[in-house]
Amino acid sequence: MAALRIHLNDIPMEGMNFECHVPSAALEGSLKEEIVGEGFEWKGFVTRISDGAYVEGTLSYVVRRECVRCLQGFLQPVCLSCTAVFQSDGRAKRAAADSSSERSETGLGSLGEEPYPCIGDQIDLTVPLREQVILEVPIQSLCQPQCRGLCLRCGANLNDRDCGCTPEEEWSTPFSVLDRYVNSSNRD
Ligand SMILES: [Zn+2]
Ligand SMILES: [Zn+2]
Repeated sequence: MAALRIHLNDIPMEGMNFECHVPSAALEGSLKEEIVGEGFEWKGFVTRISDGAYVEGTLSYVVRRECVRCLQGFLQPVCLSCTAVFQSDGRAKRAAADSSSERSETGLGSLGEEPYPCIGDQIDLTVPLREQVILEVPIQSLCQPQCRGLCLRCGANLNDRDCGCTPEEEWSTPFSVLDRYVNSSNRD
C-alpha cells in the first residue's frame, strides 16, 4: 500500500492532485457490502496546512446490492466526496474526540473535523477512505427509480412482465378484501 502514502515534503505549496487505485482487499474487514470489479478509485487534491495536510477528493466504487422492491441483485456505482485533515498531533486530538463519544447518530457530523495523525512525515490516504466506506450504509436501494417491484399475489417481477393479476390497490387493504367477500356473498 506504499502508493497510498504521501510524504508531506512531496506536496508542493500550491498543492497537487492525487489519484490512486485501492483494491478492495485493502479494506478487508471494513466492508459491509460486496465490492464489484477493480476496487476503489480514490482521487482528489492534497494541500499542505500547518503541521499536516488537507485532502479533498472523491471515492468511487461499485457495489452489488439488492433492490428493496423487486429483490433483484443489481450493481450500483457509489461516489462519495471525502475530506480529511492530517496533522502530526492528530492522534491525540482524535483519541480525545473518540473518548468523548459525542459522535452523532449518523456519524457524519464529526467526520473530517478531527484530524488524522500523520505517520512520521507521511500521510496514509487509506485511513479516511476506510472510515468513509464504513459510514456509508445503504438504507434503501432501488435497482431503478421506477422499479415496479414484485406482484403481491404471484410474486412475478413486474419489471420483467405484467403477470395479469388484479392491480395492487385492490388488494392493498383488508377492507377491500372484505368488500369483495361481501359483494360476492350478496350475489349468491
Ligand atoms: Zn427493483
Ligand atoms: Zn401477479
